[in-house]
Amino acid sequence: MGFCNIILLLSIFGTLPLWIVLLNGYNYYYDYLSSQFEDDPLPVYDFIVVGAGSAGAAIANRLSRNNKVLLLEAGGDPIFPQRIPAFSGPLLHWPQHDWCYKTVPQKYACRGAPNNVSYWPRGKSLGGSSNLNFMLYVRGHPLDYDNWANITGDPSWKYENVLEYFKKSQDYHGIHQNNTKHHAQSAYGNLHIESRNIDDLPLVPEFLQAAKELGFENVDLNGPQKPGFDQFEYVQKKGYRFGTYSAFLNPIMGRKNIRISRYSHVTKIKLDRNNIAVGVWYTRHGVKRFARASKEIIISAGAVDSPKLLMLSGIGPSEHLKSVGVKPRVNLPVGQNLVDHVVTTLPSVIIDKPLTFDPMRDFGLDTIMEYAINGTGFLSLPGAVAAEGFISTENALIEGIKCIFWDVKIMSSGVMDTGSVIMGRPDDPKTVVDSKLRVLHTRGLRVADASIMPVIVNGNTNAPAIMIGEKAADIIRQYWSEQYLVCPQLSTYAFQRKFTQNKCFYSTISI
Ligand SMILES: Cc1cc2nc3c(=O)[nH]c(=O)nc-3n(C[C@H](O)[C@H](O)[C@H](O)COP(=O)(O)OP(=O)(O)OC[C@H]3O[C@@H](n4cnc5c(N)ncnc54)[C@H](O)[C@@H]3O)c2cc1C
Repeated sequence: MGFCNIILLLSIFGTLPLWIVLLNGYNYYYDYLSSQFEDDPLPVYDFIVVGAGSAGAAIANRLSRNNKVLLLEAGGDPIFPQRIPAFSGPLLHWPQHDWCYKTVPQKYACRGAPNNVSYWPRGKSLGGSSNLNFMLYVRGHPLDYDNWANITGDPSWKYENVLEYFKKSQDYHGIHQNNTKHHAQSAYGNLHIESRNIDDLPLVPEFLQAAKELGFENVDLNGPQKPGFDQFEYVQKKGYRFGTYSAFLNPIMGRKNIRISRYSHVTKIKLDRNNIAVGVWYTRHGVKRFARASKEIIISAGAVDSPKLLMLSGIGPSEHLKSVGVKPRVNLPVGQNLVDHVVTTLPSVIIDKPLTFDPMRDFGLDTIMEYAINGTGFLSLPGAVAAEGFISTENALIEGIKCIFWDVKIMSSGVMDTGSVIMGRPDDPKTVVDSKLRVLHTRGLRVADASIMPVIVNGNTNAPAIMIGEKAADIIRQYWSEQYLVCPQLSTYAFQRKFTQNKCFYSTISI
């Protein structure tokens, strides 16, 4: 490797910390200064959405078509390096755009990690964890969703019914374009999905060939799923990350109906004495503020922060809340079904050709030129994630491990957390939200993000979280299209222009 290549590598990867600090610092202070001159927020919005991640960005986009929406996000804009897939790993664990969570020491897992602690990166910016993730577009198995329908007793969660929401967000340009039953270039779809040229993926043809020799076909992993292997499809456009910021928020920055409030950390939901959610308290640049919603508050803060916010607001296991000094309002098992995928690492294998990408050996000006011109090559890949397979087993973990090797260390993936605000039947003691995503025993409050999954999907969780956002927006729009605003004093107040929403209420019956 030439001296110039080493300098190039160091100047790109070595200066990354500086760029992270500078770009995030610029975003923060720019927003701080603009906040000094901006108009006051409206006194009341139709909907408040908390969290602009995978699900929240989709919800805010759909609801703000014809409602006044306030979107509150604790972080700022994503920074440019996050768009380059090869930086996915080095950009984790920076508190400027990552919540940097850690688990408590684990008794039975994470034995290979220091102090048995697992790191849980979570995105903190417009686009949420879709700015940190590895961009793999995987829906899971159709039976996952059929199972959700069974658990909730609501057939609308069956795969054949949620498929329309997966397709609604898609702008699909992958290798399975002919499979129009499962993929779409939808009129509403901005989520750009593409495949890499298989010859640019080191070892993938060999991996797929090996799977074939074991009897597994090459299949569309997001199609009518059967056991098989395939190269991954990525949420990317021309080799650049295309998270939910690019798909759902950037296109509506000028929309009048939505106010996107960055660096706005929501600390509590206000419930009135009838447990109706009427507003939220949040802190923006050190100033405590309150925002009111006339219709609903939708919590999409992710599987760690959604349960945390509910609990800070008194919604959670009463005994636990009392023990930490929070006054309980609604006794629900919030946070008690938190589930993550398990992962393990493969031992190194030795191959007899220089197929893998060794940055010290292979990185050069041509790598940068290739990415800049074609959007391909090493910089377009989020590390060594290029292909996967699904096999059908009784016990996925044990069989999966047997299938690959001997000595394993089981870890929490740390990135696919779900189930902490579990959806289920209202009469099931485990349930926190019903199948319409309403928090039980409250009104005007829903949760919609990866936390509501009753059972974790057999795949990655970004596409399912976006689907949950799409479906939530539809459920909410449908519900409110059947409500009428009833104002008993309308005749007196409307004419005198003293009409306020406090004097009115929503009802399914028009009077
Ligand atoms: C490193 C990493 C790699 C991953 N790789 C993949 C992958 O390749 N493919 C895949 O399918 N999945 C992947 N995932 C998982 C996937 O990205 C997540 O499951 C998905 O993004 C979760 O979406 P969400 O809407 O539930 O939450 P998030 O996207 O995390 O959004 C929550 C948002 O709420 C904001 N927020 C939180 N608390 C507050 C508050 N109090 N006030 C205001 N705002 C708040 C956060 O800042 C964040 O923006 C990965 C995740 C990580 C972290």
